[in-house]
Amino acid sequence: MAPKYDAIIIGAGYGGIVCGALLSKWGVKVLVLDKNNRPGGKQMPFTKNGFKGEWWPTFGIPLERGPFVEAFAELGIESNLKLMPGSAALMYRRPSGKWVTAVDSPKSEIADPTENMFNAWQLNAEERQTSLQILAELALMSPQELDPLDDVPIKDWVDSHTNVPPALRGFFAVHANLMATNLYELVAASEMARIMQIFAGTTKSYPKGGYGRLIMDLVNFIKAHGGDVQLRSRVERILVEGGRAAGVTCNGKVFKAPIIVSNAGVQPTVLKLLGEEYFDKFYVNYVKEIVPSLGFTCQRYVMSKPVLEHGVYIATSEDSYIDAARLDDMHAGKFPDVISVYGTVPAHFDPEMAPPGKQMLLIGTWCSPDPAAREIRALQKKVDEQFEEMLPDAARFVETREGYVGPAHVAAMSRDQVLPGLGGEAVGLAVTVGYCGKNKPKARSPLPGLFFVGHDAGGSALVGTHQAVSSGMRVAHLVRNYYFERKLVERL
Ligand SMILES: Cc1cc2nc3c(=O)[nH]c(=O)nc-3n(C[C@H](O)[C@H](O)[C@H](O)COP(=O)(O)OP(=O)(O)OC[C@H]3O[C@@H](n4cnc5c(N)ncnc54)[C@H](O)[C@@H]3O)c2cc1C
Repeated sequence: MAPKYDAIIIGAGYGGIVCGALLSKWGVKVLVLDKNNRPGGKQMPFTKNGFKGEWWPTFGIPLERGPFVEAFAELGIESNLKLMPGSAALMYRRPSGKWVTAVDSPKSEIADPTENMFNAWQLNAEERQTSLQILAELALMSPQELDPLDDVPIKDWVDSHTNVPPALRGFFAVHANLMATNLYELVAASEMARIMQIFAGTTKSYPKGGYGRLIMDLVNFIKAHGGDVQLRSRVERILVEGGRAAGVTCNGKVFKAPIIVSNAGVQPTVLKLLGEEYFDKFYVNYVKEIVPSLGFTCQRYVMSKPVLEHGVYIATSEDSYIDAARLDDMHAGKFPDVISVYGTVPAHFDPEMAPPGKQMLLIGTWCSPDPAAREIRALQKKVDEQFEEMLPDAARFVETREGYVGPAHVAAMSRDQVLPGLGGEAVGLAVTVGYCGKNKPKARSPLPGLFFVGHDAGGSALVGTHQAVSSGMRVAHLVRNYYFERKLVERL
């Protein structure tokens, strides 16, 4: 007899695992099934030859407040969230071709990162004033003011201002790609504002042991509270009985539960694990049209000496953004002169992440989410060339470049490809105008008993892992209420 569970969670990404941990704490018996041999989805732990970390650069999110702190506090394990402070190098190539570096560090003498940025852009007094006003206008908006901006692209919002310095325009375009992980013309002004607001006044930090260790803490929590996490367990179908979700098939077995929470992505869940026949055609079309985030391609550089001084490297120019026209150019193998580059050095924050005397840099750039895109390797080569131009002294100590990953690898490690061109999204779906903020896809599906969790649905407008963790918490509350409602109805 297959064991009986109160809820089955498909996928052990941050969304699924946080949701499972909270449900377990509240006495709901959960089974988490994941197709991979390690939990964590896009943030599964990486270890090789004494190096530890992630499969790709992961940072960009302040950890000292927001969903991680809230989730760990709600679980009563906040002491596990040991934050290691560090610095970030914001490298900027001026139109003259010269690279300048502004350091953002807890020890930095320039405490104001905005000042740092304006210095790198070489703004005159009038441009500084205008830039400050525009940034402050967005950053100081109240939630009520931001709500309508869910429907306004950041590009249109910027264009509604006069005398915008080109460097500031470039900043918004580039950060729509970097922070909201989408094309400049598709990212909502509200999304940018909320991201700026959560970053304000926070210090750069990284969890001791990496993001993968946090996942292991959460998995252990589930097991210690009566739940089960089974790996190498690909769910093939979600079963429906009497018009409600009733269980799953996995590795030739049937697991029954009245609640199914899918972390496998909204599109694969609706189109593959269930099938269009279970939903009305309006919902199916809605699901098919949800816009994916951009993808990311990267490599690990093993450094023979610890020559990199910072934990995060972000390199941009006012012209390194990706919009729809540029994405088409990139498909044709034509890249901007400067591309936006993002890298992290886990051992900068936590020395135990690398063998003594060595460093690992995870470095890459944004790209199409299409697992079949042919330009990705050439783009990664461009990252290598740009690294040598940006940091020639450090480039001499690159021992090996290895572990190439692109959208095809991301799709294999997280969501299955079910629609042409999609599947390799770096953060997930639904970060654009029409699908973010108040328009975010609902976590409760039209099929009774089926919920979505993770980046795609139910979370609030924050960067990648934050979005998944916030969804994990919200969906756990939603599922708990549903669980007790069903129990009451059964008694009546
Ligand atoms: C290259 C890259 C760089 C990133 N950088 C950052 C960053 O700097 N900062 C940041 O905050 N975020 C970053 N992210 C984004 C962040 O990692 C994701 O947004 C977040 O981890 C997504 O979590 P999730 O819960 O939505 O699910 P996912 O991580 O997508 O996990 C889904 C899980 O479901 C499982 N699954 C799928 N189908 C099945 C099935 N049929 N049966 C069983 N299991 C199944 C998968 O194996 C996987 O474990 C990055 C992501 C990538 C790829």
